[in-house]
Amino acid sequence: MYFIDENYINSLLQNEKLHDEHFQLDVISKASEAKGLTLLESTALLNIESPELLAELFKIAKKVKEIIYGNRLVLFAPLYFTNLCVNNCLYCAFRKDNHELERKSLSLDEIEEEARILVHQGQKRILLVAGEHPKMSAVDFIGKAIERIYKIDFNGNNIRRLNVNVAPLTLEDFKKLKNFGIGTYQCFQETYHYQTYKQMHTEGRKSDFGWRLFAMDRALQAGIDDVGIGSLFGLADYKFETLGLLSHAFDLDSKYGVGPHTISVPRLEPALNAPAAINPPNIVDDISFKKIIAVIRLAVPYTGIILSTRERAELRRELFSVGVSQISAGSRTAPGSYKESRESKVEHSLEQFQLGDHRSLDEVVRDCAALGYMPSFCTACYRSNRTGDRFMELAKSANIGKICKPNAMATFKEYLNDFASNDTKKIAYEFFENEVNKLEGTIRNKVVQMIERVELGERDVYL
Ligand code: SAM
Ligand code: SF4
Repeated sequence: MYFIDENYINSLLQNEKLHDEHFQLDVISKASEAKGLTLLESTALLNIESPELLAELFKIAKKVKEIIYGNRLVLFAPLYFTNLCVNNCLYCAFRKDNHELERKSLSLDEIEEEARILVHQGQKRILLVAGEHPKMSAVDFIGKAIERIYKIDFNGNNIRRLNVNVAPLTLEDFKKLKNFGIGTYQCFQETYHYQTYKQMHTEGRKSDFGWRLFAMDRALQAGIDDVGIGSLFGLADYKFETLGLLSHAFDLDSKYGVGPHTISVPRLEPALNAPAAINPPNIVDDISFKKIIAVIRLAVPYTGIILSTRERAELRRELFSVGVSQISAGSRTAPGSYKESRESKVEHSLEQFQLGDHRSLDEVVRDCAALGYMPSFCTACYRSNRTGDRFMELAKSANIGKICKPNAMATFKEYLNDFASNDTKKIAYEFFENEVNKLEGTIRNKVVQMIERVELGERDVYL
């Protein structure tokens, strides 16, 4: 189907030579140069089974991640504004035939209230998420919500990047979305396997595989520079799915000179009254999941990899090392649930799926610092026009770190001063000092100057 060449992917999956351990080792060695991999090479890595080779794969993925991203982890939170949906995806609690779900759509005031709670937690990036609904998630409504959220200001703290994960739009609506000032448009194909797609999406707009597959083309043609793709692991065979994702990334790169800004790797979670989520057709175990992330990191080294709170805290810690660059934290997946959880109400009857990591943003930040990762709230690139191919050029020239590191540190310092609990401060200030001490030359000077400005009360200090 289109650029997803099922025959070719299947031929790779059936190719016995790609199970050869000598070849797999050669590919790992090539991958260590951080120049990316072909579909054939990626298949060889996905076929790795031996514990020794897996350990080598993870070691090289970690090395490549460190070369490109250092120890930074960018943080964000989703904001669900409606669970009304006209589709009937078999894995999702929002599907229209789920009469057990309590339906709720937020008004603009309620959306602003949710965003305000996130700002008060210290978040700087929000991902707006919604079911597909002609009114409650219409593009003009999204525009009004974005305007309201960007206006929030709490002593210089605000939402500085709004990404959007809503159903595919028309070219005209994507143009509007761009003009609202969004960061990334994100949409997951769910499965690149056509037959599985058809089984999971029998009704509504979403049953059109091609409409969804070409959403990113329309978004890019409309001028949105950063797009995020993903597939829902657990629906089809994970090797097929990973090769589908990579085919999509390569296709965008070849057509527009820039691949996806991010790749998300959601894994199926239990969801109320959603048969495919309760019994996933192709369960992906933890070790295979780690392999998927490592292979994506090596195949497309400059693409951000997003890991959500669907995963448990212990596993998340392990996955950071092999390639993840962005994580959600303190998330809720029901409309209005930041307010509800603050009031200690249970919101399971409204949520999209169950989460694996229930920790607050503060706890996640503390844990990251304790593990040696630098939490970053940076949103500088798209505001400095470093999006799309301009971002990729910079990333590939290895110069991005010179900008990202100081920005990450300045935004982390803002967080520590304004929002961190005392327990977090205890761990994080020491970690922060050590990180400053590791720096040398111009970067060190830049960081020291930026931190001084933050200490003097300036906010939103970035390069
Ligand atoms: N409704 C829009 C759509 O489907 O494109 C917007 C996004 S939907 C609310 C967000 C994503 O949640 C879906 O693309 C799907 O990958 C994911 N999702 C749905 N059910 C899930 C489940 N049971 N476990 C994990 N992720 C799930
Ligand atoms: Fe609706 Fe999206 Fe859930 Fe499908 S995944 S039922 S389109 S909210």
